[in-house]
Amino acid sequence: MYPSRFRYEAPRSLDDAIALLQAGQGEAKVLAGGQSLVPLLKLRFAAPELLVDINNLPGLDYHRVDPDGTIRIGALCRHATLERSPLLVERQPTMAAAAPLVADPLVRNRGTLVGSLCHADPQGDWAAVVTALGGRVVAAGPRGRREIPIGEFVTGPFENALRYDEIAVEAVIPASKGQPAGGYLKLERRVGDFATAAAAVALELSGDVVTRAGIALCGVGPSTIDATDAGRALTGRTLTAAAIEEAADLAAAAAQPRTDHRGSAAYKRQVVRTFVTRILRNVVSTAERAA
Ligand SMILES: Cc1cc2nc3c(=O)[nH]c(=O)nc-3n(C[C@H](O)[C@H](O)[C@H](O)COP(=O)(O)OP(=O)(O)OC[C@H]3O[C@@H](n4cnc5c(N)ncnc54)[C@H](O)[C@@H]3O)c2cc1C
Repeated sequence: MYPSRFRYEAPRSLDDAIALLQAGQGEAKVLAGGQSLVPLLKLRFAAPELLVDINNLPGLDYHRVDPDGTIRIGALCRHATLERSPLLVERQPTMAAAAPLVADPLVRNRGTLVGSLCHADPQGDWAAVVTALGGRVVAAGPRGRREIPIGEFVTGPFENALRYDEIAVEAVIPASKGQPAGGYLKLERRVGDFATAAAAVALELSGDVVTRAGIALCGVGPSTIDATDAGRALTGRTLTAAAIEEAADLAAAAAQPRTDHRGSAAYKRQVVRTFVTRILRNVVSTAERAA
């Protein structure tokens, strides 16, 4: 199917892009990697009057670490850049584990992490990862910039907290106060598919004690699930078998899966339990090998 007719603008400055959105009065949409928006246009699930292509905006394709350890990912940083990032391998294991599991290589070449957060697909990998890491999104609009914690940014399935005249310019991952550890595991029917169930685990360790734990799930509920009880169960503890089992059970309990063609609700809940257990056991064995 062909998309509905729309006007296309490709501004060269952020101010111009914001002005276009403002003039669009809610009938304009931002185009980043296009990997979610273009299919929606072709299916006519979206029919904006104006597309504001942000790919010509300068200086948004970065990912970097600030001197204090904060990680910043610009709105035009592609999934593929994150997949190949030595910086993430060195500094952020949960993100490094997730990056190669997002979609397929073609989609990863164009799609962006920030676009994925904006799209707010309940099966989106990055929203789970950024939730586990306690990240936030920086929005720029006519009234300046504001930072929105990820839990407030994703307001529901395919809904976010941006005003119609705002652009998400950056995702921010707070500096880890301890040694970062964790991972991301995803069950997909075939390579490149969305998650049947996936779990992101982001820990901060002081020695072998967990000082912060974030666990988030995707594919097993109406939106990204922040399994806060599971994270809390690990905080202040070492990763004993009992602590791991407790956290995995709590994560499974937080899931809200539905039985569908990908599997039964009970099966998906068990996948969550297994993934959280595996990631945590892997943290323990990695630490033992390093000792
Ligand atoms: C075949 C296929 C398989 C896929 N598999 C997966 C998968 O396994 N896991 C997964 O997580 N994703 C998957 N995706 C989605 C992919 O990750 C997209 O890249 C991502 O969801 C959106 O990023 P984008 O840059 O392409 O955004 P776009 O498609 O350009 O935009 C998506 C939405 O976000 C808005 N938007 C984008 N950027 C901004 C911004 N900076 N400010 C304000 N609004 C913005 C747009 O207006 C639009 O509403 C898949 C897509 C395809 C086509």
